[in-house]
Amino acid sequence: MNDAAPAAAPLAPCAAHDERSRGRRHPEPRPELRGEFQRDRDRIIHSNAFRRLVYKTQVFVNHEGDLYRTRITHSIEVAQIARSAAIALRLNEALTEAICLAHDLGHTPFGHAGQDALNECMRDYGGFEHNLQSLRVVDELEERYAEFSGLNLTFECREGILKHCSVHHARELGELGERFLKRQQPGLEAQIANLADEIAYNNHDVDDGLRAQLLTVEALRASRMFRRQHEAVAARYPDLSERRLVHEIIRRMINHIVLDLIRTTQSRLAQAKPASIEEVRALSKPLAALSDECREEHLELKELLREQVYRHYKVLRMTAKARRVVHELFDAFFKDVTLMPPEHREQALKAEAANSNTGRARTVADYIAGMTDRYAILEHRRLFEPSERT
Ligand code: MG
Repeated sequence: MNDAAPAAAPLAPCAAHDERSRGRRHPEPRPELRGEFQRDRDRIIHSNAFRRLVYKTQVFVNHEGDLYRTRITHSIEVAQIARSAAIALRLNEALTEAICLAHDLGHTPFGHAGQDALNECMRDYGGFEHNLQSLRVVDELEERYAEFSGLNLTFECREGILKHCSVHHARELGELGERFLKRQQPGLEAQIANLADEIAYNNHDVDDGLRAQLLTVEALRASRMFRRQHEAVAARYPDLSERRLVHEIIRRMINHIVLDLIRTTQSRLAQAKPASIEEVRALSKPLAALSDECREEHLELKELLREQVYRHYKVLRMTAKARRVVHELFDAFFKDVTLMPPEHREQALKAEAANSNTGRARTVADYIAGMTDRYAILEHRRLFEPSERT
């Protein structure tokens, strides 16, 4: 990226500026020798939920192989992509990184299968959305600080973490939910993090899909973006092994999309000329975007992955198993909270006293959502296998 601005360039006026942050829920003195958003990022890295991402998966269950992405490597890849774009666009790099590292903190075990199952379990009790859960983790569930629950992050970081939200929940979230009711935007750092998430998972699912032999290079050539890079790499390096060929293609695809994101966003910024983050928020459409052509090709690749990888019978078997585990754990704990470890049981009884079944269900969902894949499997075995130790 030769045309990238140097990291030391001053922030763009429309970036998130430390001194103009909308602040934290519990006021705190400003940090010494680091910025507000650096403090956010540091708190996220030290959280329990962040460490658990090591053993939570996206598509492939963690014990299938050591080389597949987990939520933590995914989050780091998202942060890498978004930081490159943020630096080039003179946005706040620390805030961008913080949002990326936190964006999946509320994910259940077993990727989307786990989240769908938990949402079904919670249907009568307010549902389960992983974005809202990420917010719940940083606002309430982490227990690390003497003076408050959660991580007490800045408004800008919390706004970025809450990527989607139903209107129903938005109404309960006060100023953080407002933008979903007014159809406004989050800051640019959040918009970049959001796109970086899609870029990262599309590309690494190509890599993981090939490694798991759910996909072939030949099948991937149905994607224009893949085919173009495949032809360029094969012409220039005719004797490359398949492994290197694939990595070189993916590297080039990511570079192509990230450059497109930066250039397209640059030209939209040049047109809209937002003078502050408030002006970015007030727009009806996001400013960060891919060009029409790149977006279409990216969607084409996503569709191909859906057909070939996410609907592969081996993946569907895994997701069916995962759903069953989550449903059975929920039913067992909801019926009898005394089966949960003491601290979760105490919380469930307290929540039930305050908010009857809805409160009890939420604490069971919090306990399950916090589990890693292997912990969920182990808990399931402890509950249902007579020969397993409890
Ligand atoms: Mg993600």
